[in-house]
Amino acid sequence: MRRKIVAGNWKMNGSTGLVEHLVGYVRSEVSCLDNGVEAVIIPPALYVRDVKSLAGDELSVGVQNVACWESGAYTGEVSAAMAKDCGCRYALVGHSERRQLFGETDAAVADKVAQLMSQGLNAIVCVGETLAEREAGQAEETVSAQVRKALAGVSGAEWQYVVVAYEPVWAIGTGKTATAGDAQAMHQAIRQVLKDLGAPADTMSLLYGGSVKADNAAALFAEPDIDGGLIGGASLVAQDFMSICQAMPAGTGR
Ligand code: PEP
Repeated sequence: MRRKIVAGNWKMNGSTGLVEHLVGYVRSEVSCLDNGVEAVIIPPALYVRDVKSLAGDELSVGVQNVACWESGAYTGEVSAAMAKDCGCRYALVGHSERRQLFGETDAAVADKVAQLMSQGLNAIVCVGETLAEREAGQAEETVSAQVRKALAGVSGAEWQYVVVAYEPVWAIGTGKTATAGDAQAMHQAIRQVLKDLGAPADTMSLLYGGSVKADNAAALFAEPDIDGGLIGGASLVAQDFMSICQAMPAGTGR
């Protein structure tokens, strides 16, 4: 059965004040939902422990990035083991901002996935095409290659820790969203790539990200291959994040 996940990526936003205001509210509201959604808060790493201490069992916590290495002389980096030690259940890898602004390659993404697998942490592997790639008709080819390269080293029971987030680069933080139909088509293609890699694709969760808001979430989540969302801007506003969690259809998963 696929997990239904709504994950909030705070990016480099937030404060101790936001943690106190948002986490308590979301925790109490999520506990009233009966749609089976797993809400995940992914703050900057400095706030992970604060979020965790307020999250209880109702909310999961994640980090936005982990190092390619296990430990050692890598100033400024945070390891997968540290994320686990501080109570994280999830980590983003390969977010388009990491790829574009910090030169994160597919090989580095694969190394980060390996670190997370070694800790039994859930990797939310972000993939997505640029506008130029979409306009050139290369969207599916680009995204499929990213999935294959990121997950080439995953096998056996490790697949249970893999979540893929399809985030068209042109839709992140722009207010432009893929249509539900286009997002569904890409999710279906990703699921096929996962099958080709030998993954139990029908049981894996695939998230859509890119300007998801309270008013477009329900249409996206209604698609058969979209199991949740990775939310940026709207995750910083407690009521908006909750409205997106509420937009998940009820039921026991797909
Ligand atoms: C993101 O940062 O992953 C994201 C999808 O951002 P936004 O929702 O703001 O487009």
